[in-house]
Amino acid sequence: MPQLIGMSRTASIAPLAAPDPPPVSAPLGLRLRVDKLCISLQAGSPAELVERAESALHDAKFFEFRLDALPKPAAAIDPLRKFLAAHKDVTALATCRRKQLGGNFAGALAAELDVLTKAAEAGCAIVDLEVESAEQAKASQLAHFRGALHAAGTALLISFHDFTRTKGLDHVAQRIEAFSPDFMKVVSTARSLSDNLEVLRLIENRSLSAQVVGIAMGEEGLLSRLLGPRAGAAFTFAAMGEGAEAALATAPGQLTMRTLRDLYRVEQLDQATRIFGVAGNPINHSLSPLMHNMAFRRESVNAVMLPLKARSLDDLLNIIRELPLAGVAVTMPFKQEVLPHLANMDPLTARIGACNTLRTGADGKLYGFNTDVAGVVRPLQRRMRLPGARIAVLGAGGAARAAVFGLVEQGAEVFVINRTHETAVALARKAKAKSLKHEQLARSRFDAIINTTPCGMAGVKPALPIKEDELNTSLVFDMVYNPMETPLIKLAQSRGIAVITGLEMFVQQGARQFEIWTGKPAPEAEMQRVVELELRRRG
Ligand code: NAP
Repeated sequence: MPQLIGMSRTASIAPLAAPDPPPVSAPLGLRLRVDKLCISLQAGSPAELVERAESALHDAKFFEFRLDALPKPAAAIDPLRKFLAAHKDVTALATCRRKQLGGNFAGALAAELDVLTKAAEAGCAIVDLEVESAEQAKASQLAHFRGALHAAGTALLISFHDFTRTKGLDHVAQRIEAFSPDFMKVVSTARSLSDNLEVLRLIENRSLSAQVVGIAMGEEGLLSRLLGPRAGAAFTFAAMGEGAEAALATAPGQLTMRTLRDLYRVEQLDQATRIFGVAGNPINHSLSPLMHNMAFRRESVNAVMLPLKARSLDDLLNIIRELPLAGVAVTMPFKQEVLPHLANMDPLTARIGACNTLRTGADGKLYGFNTDVAGVVRPLQRRMRLPGARIAVLGAGGAARAAVFGLVEQGAEVFVINRTHETAVALARKAKAKSLKHEQLARSRFDAIINTTPCGMAGVKPALPIKEDELNTSLVFDMVYNPMETPLIKLAQSRGIAVITGLEMFVQQGARQFEIWTGKPAPEAEMQRVVELELRRRG
């Protein structure tokens, strides 16, 4: 039976499994309440580790100290003690994972337990011990360790890590529960979007009776990092800093504190938050989460958009159904493939044969729209009368289809020109447009020329989709938006020809998505500003 993560239409908390064998020692009495975001820190020396914590204090008060990343973990205990004495509001989690369990510590189990005990005595509020270590330890060794933690008032977190896959997490949870720790942490590796469901279910099923942390590592596991706290996780991990500093992430797929907090508002997501996604492959450079999350925030819509790296349509449909998702922005390579799965779509989407926007109805069915059309038509309508306008479309791929069908519908006379001429002829025939051979361009005059080829993007040759003497037009519209000022846009501007950039199209198609999903007018100027800033930052 499908279970609804965080949207529980039915109560979905599983009864607590009775631990077997009996607990080695009881957890601390009251639950230790911690912040939702924990910055994981590692460094080459104890001084550097503490420096990193000092410099992150304005962002967070909860840190994981990866002592195993140091050449001599024990050397960090004194600096750590001083740091924690000076910052009483900091919650510290100490980890000293051994090499055979995926960490960096070369010492034996006894040495690991010794470092963790000293970290507890130095003021760390939580120590992380792997379930394998807990199982390997002799009963007396473990009892001694737990006694020392108890005396120091330190909570025990027992963790599990699978660096290859997500499988059998319930069994893992039972192994951890056998020790009745204060925190349970289960970390797997996502190979698909659906792997997130196993992690989120584990959190949801156990978080009323235990303090659970669940994460699926890797790009596909982003969902678990972002939705874990909403599903009931005690906290999730963040990397420090931005840019080069973000390379200091201690696990694959880890996001920075600022990204989690400012872009995804992880701490504010609650059961009423509607979840949207932008799905495709690749997806990590998509600007849609930035644009939509800003728009949601500005318009006070309790919603979040997450990037969904989907390796297959089945995987995507599964996540849409099970989470459930309220809507999805669909990008390459799923725009056509998704059509047979729609309960209904607008007539233009059906004719174009491509859908870039999904909305889930109250009946759970999927409804499809194509807002790329509005992304082309609206910027042009602001500048010219479309009925009767002569418009050349360069390219005959997916983006060209939206332009050609949309503009023909508006009454424009559309000419399709493509590298592979037969494809231009086929598209023109289907859309009731005309096709032209490239050689005919120089002899023709247009009201607008639209580039729908990737020419102009970094690395694509030729950089210009047409020659200088073929630019016989009053307006140039380049769909490429990265870079914003493409060679074609620059050439047009140098000739005094009006331009529409791909950025405007991107914002317009996104603005229509926002309206379809929320029923509110989109904050277009703000959407454009945030995307433009980011494109300039990326250079
Ligand atoms: P697509 O389906 O792969 O189509 C690409 C088209 O460009 C094809 O007609 C192809 O010709 C032609 N082409 C490819 N490389 C070429 C080259 N080196 N020289 C000449 N022609 C070339 O791609 P798409 O989805 O339509 O996307 C095309 C561009 O539009 C991308 O740069 C994309 O980023 C941009 N886009 C922007 C927005 C926006 O919101 N601003 C929205 C959608 C798309 P053949 O038929 O000969 O292969």
